[in-house]
Order: sequence, then C-alpha cells, then structure tokens
Amino acid sequence: MIYGSIGRRTIAASLGLYLALAIGAAQAAAPLAGTQAPGFYRMMLGKFEITALSDGTHPFPVHKVLTKADGARNGETAPLDTVFPGEADALLAQSDLTAPVAGSINAFLINTGAKLILVDSGAGSLYGDCCGHLIENLRASGYTPDQVDEIYLTHLHADHVGGIAPNGRMAFPKAVVRVSKADADYWLSNANETAAPALLKSMFDGDKASLQPYIDAGRFKPFDGGAELSPGIRPIASPGHTPGHSFYEVESDGQRLILWGDIVHVAPIQFPDPSITVAYDSNAGEAVQERSAIYSDAAQKGYWVGAAHISFPGLGHVGVKTGEFVWLPANYEAEVRTGK
Ligand SMILES: [Zn+2]
Ligand SMILES: [Zn+2]
Repeated sequence: MIYGSIGRRTIAASLGLYLALAIGAAQAAAPLAGTQAPGFYRMMLGKFEITALSDGTHPFPVHKVLTKADGARNGETAPLDTVFPGEADALLAQSDLTAPVAGSINAFLINTGAKLILVDSGAGSLYGDCCGHLIENLRASGYTPDQVDEIYLTHLHADHVGGIAPNGRMAFPKAVVRVSKADADYWLSNANETAAPALLKSMFDGDKASLQPYIDAGRFKPFDGGAELSPGIRPIASPGHTPGHSFYEVESDGQRLILWGDIVHVAPIQFPDPSITVAYDSNAGEAVQERSAIYSDAAQKGYWVGAAHISFPGLGHVGVKTGEFVWLPANYEAEVRTGK
C-alpha cells in the first residue's frame, strides 16, 4: 500500500511537472518572424564591387504574358497557351514550380572605386506593394541614395525606371540618368503612346513621371552608340524587347559581367525554350534572336551574367546541358573576394 501510494504521488508529481513544462514551452514559443533577409548580395569583379539589389518579387502571370510564334499565322506571336497548350506548366514542373511563379526584380550597383553606378532601379511605386524595395535594400547594403553618381537603365519599362522617382519624387538627388536615345525617343513620344498596343500604353505615363524630375534638373542624358559611359562600362545595343534595349558590359582586371536586362523573364521556361516571348516585347522576333545570341555568347565565353528577372540575386553563368542552355546560379559566398 505504501509502495502504491508513493507510486501515485510520483505519477501525480510527474504529471504536474509535465503540464508545467508544456505550459512553459507554449509561453516561450517565439512568434513567426515572417520577413525575408535583406535583399542584397555582393561580389567582386576585378577591382569593381558589384551589389545585386532586390526590388521585390511579384507573382509572374505566366499564362497571361508568355507568347510564341504561331506557324499557322505566318509566325505572328500568339499566347503560348493557345499555340502550345501545356508547355508552360510542363517546363515549370521540370523545376518543381507551378504558375504563377514568383518573379524577381533585380538591379545592380557597381562601385568602380571612382563612381557609384546603379543599373536599373526597380518599379518604385508603379507595381504596388510587392515591389519598390530597392532603396531600403540599398541602405541595408551600406550605401545611401545620395552617393549614387549615375544610373544606367537597360530600357524604359516600369519595373526598371520606376525606382528613380517613386511617386514622382526624385530618389537619387545627385545622379545623372542615362538610357539609349532609341528608348528615350520611343517612350517619350506622344505619337508612339497613341499608336501603342493597350498593354504598353500605361508604361508611357510611368516613364514620363519617373524621368521628369531628372529632365527638369538637367540630369537626364540619353546616349547614342556603344562608347564607354564610365571607364570599364559600356552599353551594347540589343533591340527587340524594346526599341532601344541595352546590355551593359562591365569589365575590370580582365573579368567581365554582362547586365542583360530583360533577355529572360521566366528562366525555367526561357532557358529550355528561348523562342518563348512575352506579350510586351516590342519586336518578338528580334527579342528571340537577341536571347539566342547572348545565351550562346555567354556559354562560350564564360563571363558573369546579371539578370533583372532571374531569381535574386540573378548573378550567374550560362551553361549547356544535354543540348539545352541552362542557368548556373552564383555559388553563395559569405566572403566578398576577387573571384572568377
Ligand atoms: Zn521589360
Ligand atoms: Zn523587366
């Protein structure tokens, strides 16, 4: 009996201790943090420091936006889902993804040692709450907007130019803004706005609102041709996605990086099939030619690539595997050091 009563007391005490621990554990549980790491990633390219900056991600409307040449309509583009039903989902499935896939919006900050140059600027206030995080990530990376000397835009779509002036206010008070004359002439023309397809019309207002503060300040300077804009950085005309779309070739100590803007919108789809286009390509045929040519060049020469819409940080190389181009993302390094 004594033994039995000790046993009951022991069991009761153990149960009490268990309950106390369980309650204690519940009280100590931390709430979910629910936020992502700051959106910057850094590497060296020769003597230049390259910082990829995230503007955010948005659900990319794969089924609404992707197009492809339709053989039955003399090669005119049509929605991909109409021309090749199921292709988009099948290609996404190869990467274990489903539509709509999160689409990154990336920009790149180059510190040459003499100048701080931003290539593209994200969407600012033009894409809603998903995006417009460039400035906070630039600050998190250790810089301030007034340190930026020059901004080079690959083209004048909203998700590249919007960040220079969110809500119409100049975000980079000392920067000179540069873009190809061909893109500036196209997107700042009222006649082109009137003639543009409905999908592109909204871009014209966003461009004017974003560029106007810099035009008024005498700090909007379009360029014509491929001369260096700063030592080690030159534009390369790559029309198709827009009339004046430009790559920026960055070179330091023999190391090269090409910032290639909107050559790719959905990597898991447009690497295996470079002929897939987007509805807002100004000239889809030229866009396909540019994509195929730069994939091939990057794979052969092995230089770094920085992409506006490949998963952040969008830095990597192009490879070839079993006859298809593949994206080889940068191997994460905690240390910022001179590498390949
Ligand atoms: Zn674009
Ligand atoms: Zn874009």
